[in-house]
Amino acid sequence: MSGAAGVIATSWKDDAARDLVLNAGERYALLTRGEGAYLWDDEGTRYLDFLGGIAVVSLGHAHPVFVQAVADQAATLGHVSNYFATPPQLGLAARLKRLAGTGDAGRVYFGNSGAEANEAAFKLARLHGGADRPRVLALKQAFHGRTMGTLALTGKPAMQEPFQPMVPGVEFLDTTVAALEAAIDDRVAALFVEPIKGEAGVLELPEGYLQAAREITARHGALLIVDEIQTGAGRTGAWFAFQHAGITPDAITVAKGIGNGIPIGALVTFGAASELFYPGTHGSTFGGNPLATAVASAVLDEIERAGLVEAARDRGAQIRGVVDRIGSPLVEGCRGQGLLIGIALHHPVAGAVVAAAQQHGLIINAANDSTIRLAPALTIGDVEIDEFETLFAKALATVEDALLLDAPTAHHSTEAPA
Ligand SMILES: *Cc1c(COP(=O)(O)O)cnc(C)c1O
Repeated sequence: MSGAAGVIATSWKDDAARDLVLNAGERYALLTRGEGAYLWDDEGTRYLDFLGGIAVVSLGHAHPVFVQAVADQAATLGHVSNYFATPPQLGLAARLKRLAGTGDAGRVYFGNSGAEANEAAFKLARLHGGADRPRVLALKQAFHGRTMGTLALTGKPAMQEPFQPMVPGVEFLDTTVAALEAAIDDRVAALFVEPIKGEAGVLELPEGYLQAAREITARHGALLIVDEIQTGAGRTGAWFAFQHAGITPDAITVAKGIGNGIPIGALVTFGAASELFYPGTHGSTFGGNPLATAVASAVLDEIERAGLVEAARDRGAQIRGVVDRIGSPLVEGCRGQGLLIGIALHHPVAGAVVAAAQQHGLIINAANDSTIRLAPALTIGDVEIDEFETLFAKALATVEDALLLDAPTAHHSTEAPA
């Protein structure tokens, strides 16, 4: 920005268009402040945030526990490298093992994002069986990240296409038990599963799929790796979504909601899979540093203390009731679990609904052309949900009106930035 006399200051949109890499579309607003479930932009407009930074801001914005944990740890010890252990790192590892239910035989690797957690899981799969198990199975439409390794695991051909060739060995399956039975053999190292396909439109697995996948992978000596990056940290009404199925996986990956915005990701291993890494096989300069791990521990502690796992279940049910009560002819129904909600639309107008919602002061997201995704803070209460009802009803009504005026063309981009 130029403040020189006679020069008109550029707008933030010009700055963004000139300075930021062209990997995403135009930003929706310039956000400057947050508190609880609310955000404010540079013009002072207030928004109700029902996206939570894509399932990241579990406690809401500027939560006092988060703020205090950042300040206290930054003032104590911020970074030392992985030549050393620190109390926050050991504390978070023990906490994640307890919440995931690994028992003593579990281990935790720390990275800085979801993709890094899945990269570690991909390397875990390669270490399991080596050249005897070159095959890795993943599900069509599941999203596992945008680095070259995790893109190779992501079953979306359009996303892979510009970046071919992919890391080899990955095969994509239909999400049915029959497809898994048909594909698997003793040369498979691992099956990757996203328990609710968030980026694909909040698509749930078929009933019984995880239980069957556990039995089939175990029979063939393959690892079952569950990507809990979007579903973890209590969001679905359990600490991790695999726990609804009552199974024990070989590994899970976590990120997003465990940090409330501090960048962190982790691989949590169970049983024998915990012995696959050996010195020199993986690492990260920042991974597991005392600042990020102290904050994530404080966030998980607050989720536990405040009963937010149960709250996610109850508030999720309440929001589904609200969506039903609005009774919009655009809405087909809700998918997902807890506070990871996909609202299926009858028409491919999710982008238009998101844009209308922002005009009315509500931030939501289009997971695809015909699905709205909600992932608000687990701390939301009656006040926020009542306000959501009013604003979401207005947004739907705006699009309903537009559809009546020019029905076939009401269609906006739904490119997700994840
Ligand atoms: C967001 C997400 C990722 C990638 O996480 P990043 O932190 O963006 O690298 C991977 N898997 C799932 C299921 C996700 O939702």
